Amino acid sequence: MTLRQVAAAGASVAIVVGFAHVRLETAARQQPGELGYTDTPMLPNQPWHVHDPARPHPPIITPASTPGGAPSDAVVLFDGKDLSKWAQHGPKDELLTPKWPVHDGYFESGGGGSLYTREAFGSIQLHLEWATPTPPKGTSQERGNSGVFPMGLYEVQVLDSYQNVTYADGQAAALYGQWPPLANVARKPGEWQTYDIVFEAPRFDGARVVQPAFMTVLWNGVLVHNRKELQGPTVHRRVLPYEPHAAELPLFLQDHGNPVKFRNVWVRRLKGYDQPETR
Ligand code: MG
Repeated sequence: MTLRQVAAAGASVAIVVGFAHVRLETAARQQPGELGYTDTPMLPNQPWHVHDPARPHPPIITPASTPGGAPSDAVVLFDGKDLSKWAQHGPKDELLTPKWPVHDGYFESGGGGSLYTREAFGSIQLHLEWATPTPPKGTSQERGNSGVFPMGLYEVQVLDSYQNVTYADGQAAALYGQWPPLANVARKPGEWQTYDIVFEAPRFDGARVVQPAFMTVLWNGVLVHNRKELQGPTVHRRVLPYEPHAAELPLFLQDHGNPVKFRNVWVRRLKGYDQPETR
């Protein structure tokens, strides 16, 4: 067989295979009213066929009318008016009405200690917007310091990191004391900044850590942590191991003595996030 003959034979085979493929596609084409197939292969490690008609559909959620706004299934923690979704702890650990000042459309850290949500959360998607004081005051950790702590234990640092150097794992968007962000995306003091956070709560079986916590963070729209594993609760100057805790705990906003502004705070519970095979 010459090269030309080999090429011609190959072309014929390709044409035949091509026709067979077209016939197969035609035979398997979805008919009107059909919602999938049961004669398709099973997906690896999933209980579903490819295009399985029995597969549950995702819930319908209405997105916000403006970017960054709360979708219809969000728990809105601050809508610009009051701190009714939050509390502070009193001297006997009782829950008190927050003393943080509320202004038109935002609130400000400072006074009476840190803020806790009255509701508890586990794995969440979290959106919040924050702005550090202008003109800036202080340096390093004493400049626009606050923090957002899913479950009250795992801090995403809030800090004025615009031309303000501190230790890398303590700058804005750091998973405090563990992981610096992939980039410094700081806006200037006084400008509103956004965090979009996906937090996967740790899971425990008795004293055993079945799955550690993971944090994904977009800072001003830039990915700065991609499902980063937390090594335990975030603390100053120490390494703390995980201690088994409840599946849901209050979210915490830190009072570090600096007046940081917050607005547009909402969360979505990520139910079933740990069981992708059921989706
Ligand atoms: Mg902090």
